[in-house]
Amino acid sequence: MNKKIVLLPGDGIGPEVIQSAQAVLEAISEEFKHTFTFETHSIGGNAIDEYDTPLPDETTKACHQADAVLLGAVGGPKWDQNPSHLRPEKGLLGIRKALDLFANLRPIQGFDNLLHASPLKEEVVKGSDLLIVRELTGGLYFGTPSERRNNGQSVVDTLAYDRSEIERIVEKAFESAQIRRKHLTSVDKANVLESSKLWREVVEEKKANYPEVTVEHMLVDNAAMKLITDPKHFDVIVTENMFGDILSDEASVLTGSLGMLPSASMRSDDFGLYEPVHGSAPDIAGLGIANPLAMILSTALMLRHSFHLENEAVLVEKAVEDVLDRKFHTADLSVINGQKVGTEKMTNLVVDYI
Ligand code: ATP
Ligand code: MG
Repeated sequence: MNKKIVLLPGDGIGPEVIQSAQAVLEAISEEFKHTFTFETHSIGGNAIDEYDTPLPDETTKACHQADAVLLGAVGGPKWDQNPSHLRPEKGLLGIRKALDLFANLRPIQGFDNLLHASPLKEEVVKGSDLLIVRELTGGLYFGTPSERRNNGQSVVDTLAYDRSEIERIVEKAFESAQIRRKHLTSVDKANVLESSKLWREVVEEKKANYPEVTVEHMLVDNAAMKLITDPKHFDVIVTENMFGDILSDEASVLTGSLGMLPSASMRSDDFGLYEPVHGSAPDIAGLGIANPLAMILSTALMLRHSFHLENEAVLVEKAVEDVLDRKFHTADLSVINGQKVGTEKMTNLVVDYI
């Protein structure tokens, strides 16, 4: 298989973990006889320094021509005082918008050797493995900007969804459920919100197309509780933008570390941008100690969701699991009686397994 991958290293530890991702993908292409070509472009703070914009046109153009995009992280204290159009985060929001990435996929899995780092009881977390599918370009965060009324004492935010916007995210979630354990939980607040009633209607209509998938509806308050009392209940969760934002941060405590969480932002045609959930970690940038596993697990998502290379994706995930089982860990992870390694060594261990 021939694929063109754009790398957007960004700022802070971004370039370090992107290097790890590339090394892992090179190992995969060698093992499975694929041809992956890589092209690197600027985004975020470094793009501001070099091009005076967080998202140069040539970066957007290159992404449009790629089969998938890997992004490290953007931002850092150097640009914190910049005016709003020259903020690194504008680059990230801009590229998501430009590429129409409406589906945010966040898999959350408890790795056995890290379970003790979660504040939740081990027996609750152990074996949990779920995927949150969050709508990313609609809802409250994109409603008509509100104006203050009543001398500034009243304000309105708008939660609007078109049927077509709900349909495409719900379809994405059903497709994801089909290649997992085939259980879909649609999270809403249909006892109160009109948008949630339409959401439920669409889920009910779509389920006929996916007969193997079992579907349940759950109110968001109940889902928030169940996520940390009984996470094993869930396989795939699909929900609107704000509920997904809140639930996915809540769910991240199941794993015990920010350095382990990958994410995918996708549109309908399998094109996607893959990035770790963590940020640029400016406090450890350049020290060679960043945990590359979230970025490496993001490449597994790319292989699975954009390229449909399930065996290759599973091998990357197995490699990560194996390294953790052998108690190797980076400084951000606490592993009892483990062996601490840096970014490069951790990457090499994963590559060696592959
Ligand atoms: P940003 O604004 O880009 O999110 P931040 O200052 O909030 O940057 P984060 O990247 O969110 O920093 O990280 C929060 C904390 O977690 C930092 O102390 C950072 O060092 C640590 N951290 C985040 N990612 C990693 C990683 N991959 N490996 C090791 N430590 C990490
Ligand atoms: Mg942060």
